[in-house]
Amino acid sequence: MTTAQPLDVTPTPLALLLLGREADPRSERGVECPGDLPSPSDPDLVARARAAKERLGDKVFVLGHHYQRDEVIQFADVTGDSFKLARDAAARPAAEYIVFCGVHFMAESADILTGDAQKVVLPDLAAGCSMADMATAEQVAECWDVLTDAGIADRVVPVSYMNSSADIKAFTGRHGGTICTSSNAERALEWAFGQGEQVLFLPDQHLGRNTAVRDLGMSLDDCVVYNPHKPGGGLTTEELRAAKMILWRGHCSVHGRFSLESVEDVRARIPGVNVLVHPECKNEVVAAADQVGSTEYIIRTLEAAPAGSKWAIGTELNLVQRLANRFAPEGKEITFLDRTVCFCSTMNRIDLPHLVWTLESLADGKLVNQITVDPETERFAKLALEQMLALP
Ligand code: SF4
Repeated sequence: MTTAQPLDVTPTPLALLLLGREADPRSERGVECPGDLPSPSDPDLVARARAAKERLGDKVFVLGHHYQRDEVIQFADVTGDSFKLARDAAARPAAEYIVFCGVHFMAESADILTGDAQKVVLPDLAAGCSMADMATAEQVAECWDVLTDAGIADRVVPVSYMNSSADIKAFTGRHGGTICTSSNAERALEWAFGQGEQVLFLPDQHLGRNTAVRDLGMSLDDCVVYNPHKPGGGLTTEELRAAKMILWRGHCSVHGRFSLESVEDVRARIPGVNVLVHPECKNEVVAAADQVGSTEYIIRTLEAAPAGSKWAIGTELNLVQRLANRFAPEGKEITFLDRTVCFCSTMNRIDLPHLVWTLESLADGKLVNQITVDPETERFAKLALEQMLALP
């Protein structure tokens, strides 16, 4: 392990707004990487990443989300979903730099859960999440006013998916709610209905609906969709009062692409195929699938699957390709559920040049692309996260 040079903290300027063409600069969070971003064609990228990581030694801990590209995953000290990664980082207090190869809300969660001395870095600040960006703090505050005017705010419990900004997690903590992941959404909803009579589920309508209908036995009519772009969410006071689940109108642009036709098509193409999808998929896709579960569930299921079994997987393509390659020698046939390519484009912004730039900058004592959550937001977001950890 080498000794790092003194830190030169360089704020990253707001400049590059590729994702939404500056339509909503606050949520787009695009920036350009200052300094020398290596060219993707540089043949020495792998060697440079390895050398910079070695120079940093135990001071750096690289987290790789399941949906990340192989070229980046090879440098991850640990892989997993966003919550597992944040907890893994917190369990490594000696690591001063947590390089999060994921998206913005994941890095925020890591900053909330890690110690004050640990600095969380996102190799490309334009790696946002379209779903998280579908619920802004202002929109959610306005929604709460609508619920208050409808006379139901005191009986509504917010439940927010991990895939949300720190602001939304803090809103959830302030109003006595909980965070959930795709693994514990059922337990989170059961807990919430023990606290109140209605749930405001943010920001993924599909996970909320699928969990309510599939796991808790509610009907689709028990759910209404709150559209933040319409006055009053596009709902009448009566509709708001009658609903058990008030679902925020958000979705994952990756999982939202799978359709009932994808399921019918793969069943016709591959006789005997098992269809296994993520609960961020639409309700009709989940209803037509054989099994439904989080990324960790998908991995465990494929690990336990017998040789000769056939699977069509409805989740992000990088993960499916990796699983297909991993299990092919065991005689398990794994295919992607859709015929079209379905990468998480924002997650894929973290590529090898950005990782090399980040690691070399840190090794040179230059802190770049740090993600921080202000103390007030962190306090309330932590409340909601701790409530999730305390779920029965
Ligand atoms: S896969 Fe979907 S929810 Fe996950 S980071 Fe990408 S856009 Fe966001």
